[in-house]
Amino acid sequence: MDLKPVVDAINNLSTRLDEYQKETRAELNLLKNSIVPPSPTFKIHQSNIPEPLNLEAEQQPLTKRSSFGNRETTAVSPAPKAGKSQYPDRIILTTYPGNSKVNPIPLNWGAEDAAARGPIVASRHPQSLPLRNAIGAHGGAYSIYRALAVAMGQLDANHKPNLVNTEPVFHVPPNKSWFDPMKIVSMDPWGHLVQEAFGDKLKEGLDLRPTIALTKAHMQLAEIESMVKDGSLKIDGKIVLDKKGQLMVTKGAVEPVWYLPGIAKRFGVDEISLRRALFEDTGGMYPELITRGDLKVFLPPIGGLSIYIFGPPAYISDPTKKLTVRVHDECNGSDVFGSDICTCRPYLIYGIAECVRQAQEGGVGLIVYFRKEGRALGEVTKYLVYNARKRAEGGDTAANYFLRTENVAGVKDMRFQATMPDVLHWLGIQKIDRMISMSNMKYDAIVGSGISILERVEIPPEMLPPDSQVEIDAKIASGYFSATSAKSAEPPNLENIKGRTWDDINH
Ligand SMILES: [Zn+2]
Repeated sequence: MDLKPVVDAINNLSTRLDEYQKETRAELNLLKNSIVPPSPTFKIHQSNIPEPLNLEAEQQPLTKRSSFGNRETTAVSPAPKAGKSQYPDRIILTTYPGNSKVNPIPLNWGAEDAAARGPIVASRHPQSLPLRNAIGAHGGAYSIYRALAVAMGQLDANHKPNLVNTEPVFHVPPNKSWFDPMKIVSMDPWGHLVQEAFGDKLKEGLDLRPTIALTKAHMQLAEIESMVKDGSLKIDGKIVLDKKGQLMVTKGAVEPVWYLPGIAKRFGVDEISLRRALFEDTGGMYPELITRGDLKVFLPPIGGLSIYIFGPPAYISDPTKKLTVRVHDECNGSDVFGSDICTCRPYLIYGIAECVRQAQEGGVGLIVYFRKEGRALGEVTKYLVYNARKRAEGGDTAANYFLRTENVAGVKDMRFQATMPDVLHWLGIQKIDRMISMSNMKYDAIVGSGISILERVEIPPEMLPPDSQVEIDAKIASGYFSATSAKSAEPPNLENIKGRTWDDINH
């Protein structure tokens, strides 16, 4: 009688039993770790209490770091059977520094060359997962659309981008700010040089993604065309190309990459509190913020920024060339759709025109555009505030402008300009000759970061849209720079500065 099939079957059963036991143990651990004592009288064995966040973890040998050092993964559960999942069978809910398969590529933020700094690895591609040294996902909020494409089977979950010919079209070389770990903390200074700096790792099959892209284009705006027509902007054939006001521009897109110790320091909080808040207020989306104190880099699910350069990009870091800058925070209603309740688009257009003029005079101009819609409160909050302003007793007054926002959002502004100057340091800016902005928060952040501003330029009064006086006067009263209002003897009575009512709008 041939016993081999029987022996094979027994072996097979024994392996499955081992696996089952392992899984059960892991699930038990998960259950134990998720238990929170309901009252002080609840007794729980010490070893069952989840490990505290150990931010110094990377300084200790892996084996000593964790009492659960031998476990593969703490949070393991069977994959859903339904559908055509492209993911591995086991779902890894989080990782721990002690996991035997966790071996992140060292990342030395602020190191003096790319190889010493190390590439940022965020991919959960099976090959990259053990080597990951960043929490979160590439693409910011767009990672959700990528997930949809994978779920629908339109995108291979293991797709790696083909980066042939995607390199920058202009040079942003390293400068000394790149080598100070606390100077640039909200973006990866090597983000545009991934192919060049980490080409060997890409060849090895590591899933690395640029977080910065630099390109060039022509752009056309109705207001710029009018300026060319009325002669206030001249055609030069290099920057203003023709009578339609076509502009030559070099531009870039930057995704946020946060070095958590630097972000914490910039905002004056400790790293543990920052990680806890980021974990809780994203609905617990990133448990590694808590379990992986050894990972210091986080790719947050927020919008990034764009840079638009008028004139030679190399002039930006050259202190002998004059530089005009506008740092603009997104306002879809005005920037794109021309709403007249604020000054955003007119100020942006004025900034572009001033950048072009500076470039035509032998200098260079820079617009930095941040995706911080509605003071980073979002457009829904913004429109709720608009309604509250228009319906307020006594009308939409400059005196109550910020109060209405605070009522809805709890704060009057969440843009927190503390990390805004990072992009300026990345570009190597040492001084700004003309700053096209009245914002005291932006001014203070830039000057406080070590970049001097020689002149502040406010929006010309003739460019103010009809319903925006409330906003501009409220801002000036709260500390915004204004050379013209400083000259006037009497400060305006903010109760008397009123915007449109619904009656004005409903026709
Ligand atoms: Zn606006």
